Amino acid sequence: MAYIITDTCTKDELCVEACPTDCIHPKKDEETFEAATQLYVDPEGCIDCGACVPVCPTNSIFIVDEVPADKQEFIEKNAAHYA
Ligand code: SF4
Ligand code: SF4
Repeated sequence: MAYIITDTCTKDELCVEACPTDCIHPKKDEETFEAATQLYVDPEGCIDCGACVPVCPTNSIFIVDEVPADKQEFIEKNAAHYA
């Protein structure tokens, strides 16, 4: 399992600061940050701790089983970012 970020993400990096495994990218100091429309969770690095969820001001983060029906495409998009 993993957590999934969806398109309402504003890239404010509050989840990045909360994540204990540094599995949310791209970060501001990474080349792809500016062009990215949102941040993504690396499913390999995510330990399902849930620490990112309450700090997200836009409620953009969901555990994979609870991704809303109209946001299902972001499960693949998060994984694809790290493929
Ligand atoms: S806390 Fe939410 S809005 Fe901010 S970068 Fe993370 S997912 Fe995006
Ligand atoms: S659930 Fe935990 S490990 Fe996974 S992205 Fe969120 S803060 Fe990071």
